[in-house]
Amino acid sequence: MADVRLTGVTKSFGTTEVLKGIDLEIADGEFVVFVGPSGCGKSTLLRTIAGLEEQTGGDIAIGGRSVNDLSPSDRGIAMVFQSYALYPHMSVYENMAFGLKLAKADKAEIDRRVRGAAETLNITDYLDRKPKALSEPLSNLDAALRVRMRYEFASLHERLKTTMVYVTHDQVEAMTLADRIVVLNAGRIEQVGKPMELYERPRNLFVAEFIGSPKMNLLAAEIVSATAKGATVRTAAGETLKVAVDAARAKSGDTVTLGIRPEHLTTGGKGDAISADVVFVETLGHATYAYLTAGETPVTVLLPGDARPSAGEALTLRVPADQAHLFDADGLAFDRL
Ligand code: ADP
Ligand code: MG
Repeated sequence: MADVRLTGVTKSFGTTEVLKGIDLEIADGEFVVFVGPSGCGKSTLLRTIAGLEEQTGGDIAIGGRSVNDLSPSDRGIAMVFQSYALYPHMSVYENMAFGLKLAKADKAEIDRRVRGAAETLNITDYLDRKPKALSEPLSNLDAALRVRMRYEFASLHERLKTTMVYVTHDQVEAMTLADRIVVLNAGRIEQVGKPMELYERPRNLFVAEFIGSPKMNLLAAEIVSATAKGATVRTAAGETLKVAVDAARAKSGDTVTLGIRPEHLTTGGKGDAISADVVFVETLGHATYAYLTAGETPVTVLLPGDARPSAGEALTLRVPADQAHLFDADGLAFDRL
């Protein structure tokens, strides 16, 4: 594969537009991960790039060449399916060998690679079976195997240095595997960027909530004062907090949303703070999660492993100005300083 360029790609099924104008450039050798809620169009976009679906509008080019009219097998693409997309008349071995056969690898090489991959996946015992004789656990990998697969994907990409596009619901997979993450929502791209760019500088509320687990805390607030060098906001509970963002476009009284990730709230020290009541505590050993409410608003805090807040306790939570996010009434982020 090479670089992939999508320009205004749309896809409709009947009258339903599922992809609503996708512009995306994937560099040669890049590992790009599509994330987004179920039904947002991830699979459709992947299938459209592969040529398994024909786009309704727009252009797709691979390696500088338009592939709009090329069949999947002529696009020089290999695709691994999420589930159930195995040839029913072929054994697992034959299914796994199929792509290599098409690529005209010799028999010994195919055998070595199929058996190597089967070993990795712990499915050597199933190589002679037909897909319908496979049990569920093979299509839904268990947690340990997913971790192993993550490592395998990363090292595969390292070795092949080929362009890769991957679809997942899994935050950790997206954050660890991707050179860049594409966040999709209802057939549109919300943001494209390096994992930590999306994490630290989400463009809008959707990306802020989607990237990161547990989610970013969001508190309703209003602007007290706003300049290009920072904003002061007041929460519904009347606490005033400074936020290090360029808020030149805001004015006093504007409705905003304050965002702060669970690991950026602390219980010690001095400074602007919110207060919240502990509802529930999870002790994980290496970390403690406290789930609280600030009025009606749920707040999650990541505390050290030895922290032992108790249910009912009121905590004062510091909100560092340079870790906080601020979004306008349309959900668009103010740039962090
Ligand atoms: P995702 O992979 O993000 O969960 P999909 O790309 O599978 O989302 O689906 C996006 C939307 O397109 C969904 O509303 C789905 O029902 C619809 N869709 C997908 N494939 C078809 C199809 N072949 N015919 C009609 N609607 C489809
Ligand atoms: Mg899908």
